[in-house]
Amino acid sequence: MEEIKIPKEYFINIEGLREGVNEFKYTTDGLYLEISELQKGIEIQLKVTKIGKRLIVRGKIIFNLELECARCLKKYVLNFTESINSVFLPNNPSGIKTEEETEDPDVNFYTGKTINIVQLIRDIILLSIPIKPLCDDSCKGICLLCGKNLNEADCGCRRE
Ligand SMILES: [Zn+2]
Ligand SMILES: [Zn+2]
Repeated sequence: MEEIKIPKEYFINIEGLREGVNEFKYTTDGLYLEISELQKGIEIQLKVTKIGKRLIVRGKIIFNLELECARCLKKYVLNFTESINSVFLPNNPSGIKTEEETEDPDVNFYTGKTINIVQLIRDIILLSIPIKPLCDDSCKGICLLCGKNLNEADCGCRRE
């Protein structure tokens, strides 16, 4: 029942695909993903290649994250373009998987007439969040004595 709540832009209707390459380009607000750093609006560009029941999903996701600089604590927005590269195979009812299916982390499974890319997109965005974001490589950080942002002005404190 939970799937009903997922917005339709995160599904690809397999029956609507023709053999070969199918291209999609659209935007979605991204609110459903519930990623606090994610700014409203994601652009999704997909090239779905259908070869029988096998679907190769390639493309790009373009989005903005609001990050907090680890040195000066200032919030800033950074644009990201991440690629999608995934294969969807029909769920094998026997449960026996081939070597490719068990070993390739980019292989996903679908049942029914749609594939759901919400988890794929969510993971790509979460993985793109830097562990130690910096507003700039040369960020001077904050003064440990008075707390002033040293990128804006020198505070005059005597620091070693
Ligand atoms: Zn900074
Ligand atoms: Zn200071």
